[in-house]
Amino acid sequence: MAQRSITSFFKPAGGTSGTEESSSAKRSRQESPQSHGKIGEPEKKVQRKSEESDKKENKSKNSETKKESPKAKKTSPKSKIKASPLKKEIKLSPFKKEVTAGPIQKQISGAKKEANLIPLKKEISEDTKEATNNDEITGKATSSSSTAEKEVDKNDATPVKKLSVESNQCGAEYNPAASKYHPIKDAYWKEKQSTPYLALARTFEMIEDTKGRYKMVEILANFLSSVLLLNPEDLLSCIYLSINQLAPAYEGVELGVAETTLMKVIAVSTGRELKFIKTQTQEIGDLGIVAERSRVSQRMMFTPKPLTVQTVYQKLRAIAKSSGKAKSPIIHDLFVASRYSEARFIIRSLIGKMRIGIAEKSLFQALATAIVNSRQYDDKNKKKKQSEADIKKDIEDITFILKTAYCQCPNFDKIVSTLLTHGLDDLLKYCSMEPGVPLKPMLAHPTRGVSEVMDRLKGNFTCEWKYDGERAQIHRDEKGNVNIYSRNQENNTTKYPDIINRIEHFMKDTVKSYIVDSEVVAWDIEQKQILPFQVLSTRKRKNVDVEEIKVQVCVYAFDLLYLNGEALTSKNFEERRQLLRDNFNEVEGEFQFATSCDTNDPDDIQGFLENSIKGNCEGLMIKSLDNDASYEIAKRSHKWLKLKKDYLTGVGDSLDLVVIGGYIGKGKRTGMYGGFLLACYDDENEEYQSICKIGTGLNDEDLNTHAKFFKEHTIPTPKSYYRFDSSLEPDTWFEAVQVWEVKCADLSLSPVHKAGIGIIDPEKGISLRFPRFIRIRDDKSAEDATCAQQVAYLYRNQDQVKNQKSNAAEFDDDFY
Ligand code: AMP
Repeated sequence: MAQRSITSFFKPAGGTSGTEESSSAKRSRQESPQSHGKIGEPEKKVQRKSEESDKKENKSKNSETKKESPKAKKTSPKSKIKASPLKKEIKLSPFKKEVTAGPIQKQISGAKKEANLIPLKKEISEDTKEATNNDEITGKATSSSSTAEKEVDKNDATPVKKLSVESNQCGAEYNPAASKYHPIKDAYWKEKQSTPYLALARTFEMIEDTKGRYKMVEILANFLSSVLLLNPEDLLSCIYLSINQLAPAYEGVELGVAETTLMKVIAVSTGRELKFIKTQTQEIGDLGIVAERSRVSQRMMFTPKPLTVQTVYQKLRAIAKSSGKAKSPIIHDLFVASRYSEARFIIRSLIGKMRIGIAEKSLFQALATAIVNSRQYDDKNKKKKQSEADIKKDIEDITFILKTAYCQCPNFDKIVSTLLTHGLDDLLKYCSMEPGVPLKPMLAHPTRGVSEVMDRLKGNFTCEWKYDGERAQIHRDEKGNVNIYSRNQENNTTKYPDIINRIEHFMKDTVKSYIVDSEVVAWDIEQKQILPFQVLSTRKRKNVDVEEIKVQVCVYAFDLLYLNGEALTSKNFEERRQLLRDNFNEVEGEFQFATSCDTNDPDDIQGFLENSIKGNCEGLMIKSLDNDASYEIAKRSHKWLKLKKDYLTGVGDSLDLVVIGGYIGKGKRTGMYGGFLLACYDDENEEYQSICKIGTGLNDEDLNTHAKFFKEHTIPTPKSYYRFDSSLEPDTWFEAVQVWEVKCADLSLSPVHKAGIGIIDPEKGISLRFPRFIRIRDDKSAEDATCAQQVAYLYRNQDQVKNQKSNAAEFDDDFY
């Protein structure tokens, strides 16, 4: 990497492009909720957050950021580690100087290591044949497995590796969770050396053992600081591996590896029985841990080269690109080369569940912290003095720049390469909006009625019908390539070949490139009317053949974000809407503008709402026409309000909740789950907080579907980030993988449920009364569920609560 790029990387963020961004960075910001799963060691009982522990945790929440959790302490016994007197000279070319490396050897210890070396039970040898003869795993795999077979009793995975001085040097004791971590001295690899994958795996281990999000971010930031200072070229691989992605979401790169394939590879590579691996995975609930333990039992004739982050990332990409049987040998190579916890995380990457809870939100904070950390070292690698307040502000500003860049260009390849070649200052210039790269959509804030709309929007506004379909961001570039992206930036182009075929007719001759924001709805050609969402959901998701289309669709365009090479997001809505109307033609039943009514009259709004419902819509979207009503990417903004018809019958907006457990059914529901435990997502603490039990609104077909679906997602113990009262413990715990839309009569304070605990009441959470299942929200991930702040908001906004308390506080409208 060029010297210039590194120095530009370390430029302070103060003068970042556009005063607009830096000044707005001062505002308090929240991020879109993201996934943050982590599990404890399987042999340890996962700590459940019962009422008691909640209280303790509340008390210690502030200190948690500074203190290592007792769990982390146990696994990385920093206190026992003595700094070695060994000193080493490290050349740091970006700075052209020599530095003294710190302790490179640490005492061998660690309860965790021992835990991982627990001897495995004897297995019955029947399945060995199945595994070793498996022809999915080709020659190479089999020959290595026979090496393993020669060296170790197949069924006795007695620990063969004792941690030794060697393990320290190879990174087994690398500790990015160390307090006062030094990004150069505490890294065991040198400048320009490829970043060892073990360093990243150790980082994941530490994160997994950590409870508080701040500490998790700090650990990742420490590791990333080392990467930035020693070999920034590896940053991209580290980022993708940390969030378990291989490419931007819209490229749709998927590993496509079945768990059974992985089990077979593990069996073949270690000479262990497939049957045993299956049983152990069922018991532990984590093939990653099983792989790690199996790996420990394997002796190798030749030690493979240590893995680097680049190798692992490239091999994962190669696995994604190769088809069927060709995947297994690559997996095998990776697996046999893995050491210590590497196997755990490689397998988890392949399964698609890292269980460490690092998602975009934490990643941006960690990366921003790493940037700030790494530029704090002077030419002698001494830490410059900077006030805590300045550091905090720098981190906040840089986080904001990174997030903004990511919102308009959710592509880490581009962001990282721009960071490294042009520096932070030019990030927003280079990572700007362009057709072919889906941006995160603007979202609306829920309201309960016309009077609330009147209270919230003071200036002029327009009401649009809120269509009940699927969001579609339609992109056309100058060359005429058209793509359609979902709300989550997935590429839906092959789902709508009919739209693609006719889209050119809708634009006027003046148009060369555009990004249109719209909702696709099912359309009844004969009756010339909108059909409900349920009809649209029957359409195939991918590779739809235009000849076979049964469900016709109409695009309802409501915004124009880009036109002929120019981003329009900073223009106000009235201008954008005008440009949309000027540059596109409506065709009934194919492409129409959202039906709208510019009015500030409550009676008109009420009438318009009723019309929208008659027109098979969900209600209204009310949008500000003020001068400052720009398109706020990825924000749940107060410039857009949603008013759903349901407010008339209960809570204004339905809630989207995560299913975390099931209760075995009785009577008519014997043999399936009769009820479920639901949770909202608290993006502040990154946990799922129980909100209600639900059993109403589910017919037999629903119950069967859910039973089948959740069979694949059961876990033996609740995740450490599930917050619930022990009195509500379900019969089976589920992974947080599905979101349900739920309606209720109202919300009340609850001594047992934990939703929004601490927001309204320090001890009590909020629960739903008379919850009713509406539908599965396939388009939402668990982290997109209704957040704790929204639950508190809905609670406060109920008439009876409002009457009791008129001081209902606003919650931050910026969810990203
Ligand atoms: P919700 O999914 O309930 O949060 O509502 C927001 C969604 O409503 C958006 O993501 C769009 O998919 C959809 N929608 C339907 N009609 C409109 C409209 N006129 N303007 C904006 N969004 C709309």
